[in-house]
Amino acid sequence: LTDINALADEYLRLSFHGMRAKDKSFKADFSTDFDPTLPKVNVVPQEIGRVLLNIINNAFQACGNSEFRIQNFELKPKVEVSTKIKGDKIEISISDNGPGIPDSIKEKIFQPFFTTKPTGQGTGLGLSLSYDIVKAHGGELRVETEENKGSEFTLVIPEK
Ligand code: ADP
Ligand code: MG
Repeated sequence: LTDINALADEYLRLSFHGMRAKDKSFKADFSTDFDPTLPKVNVVPQEIGRVLLNIINNAFQACGNSEFRIQNFELKPKVEVSTKIKGDKIEISISDNGPGIPDSIKEKIFQPFFTTKPTGQGTGLGLSLSYDIVKAHGGELRVETEENKGSEFTLVIPEK
């Protein structure tokens, strides 16, 4: 059984340090809001970890996007990871205060090879792979987003 709070915390730090390693001037706040009563769940930790890393990397990249930063220079990039129990499922949410996802793009983000990142910076495989992994665990992957406010990706995973 996997402690999702510990896993999410580990991958949040891993992602942040990865961003810093690529760009020494990268600055962002990150925070967590974990439900301490969250039950351990039956998942493949490496796979759910991969999903978390994909989505958290996307979140840091979105709010650190240079075009967005120039227009919102007073806004500090921020990523929050939270967990909670919802009925017989657990939810893990990753939210950012980046540019959000326009409607025209929102319907394509889970398709393999869809990316808006410059060549060499994105494969467009992260979300499609994440979607498949979460489905294989009997769960769901949802997104809520508002342009110029940010995005929130939520993984829903059955408790048993
Ligand atoms: P990649 O990161 O390689 O581009 P993904 O499958 O991870 O591929 O994401 C696909 C696209 O979805 C991204 O290129 C981006 O346009 C959009 N996207 C994903 N996460 C976010 C986010 N948090 N904020 C804004 N756009 C996002
Ligand atoms: Mg990605």
